[in-house]
Amino acid sequence: MPNIYCSVHNCHYWKKGNVCDANEIMVTSDKMGESAPDSFDAPDHTSFKPTPASTCMDTCCKTFVDKNSQNIDKDGVMRL
Ligand code: SF4
Repeated sequence: MPNIYCSVHNCHYWKKGNVCDANEIMVTSDKMGESAPDSFDAPDHTSFKPTPASTCMDTCCKTFVDKNSQNIDKDGVMRL
């Protein structure tokens, strides 16, 4: 698995050193990220339609969940 570095420190999967500690993540377009529910995440990756982006600013991490959220377990993603 590749190393994933991330600076979003209020994410449940973030750990010290700007490391993502999720066992899998889903990166998608901002448009898809805004329209799909939080429960639609990396475990559903084969169901995502391919989504275009013009620049890195058009993409987002769909796996982000606030560390204080009540929905941490609803995306099916685990910490490593
Ligand atoms: S799940 Fe996404 S937002 Fe959260 S630490 Fe990993 S890469 Fe960053």
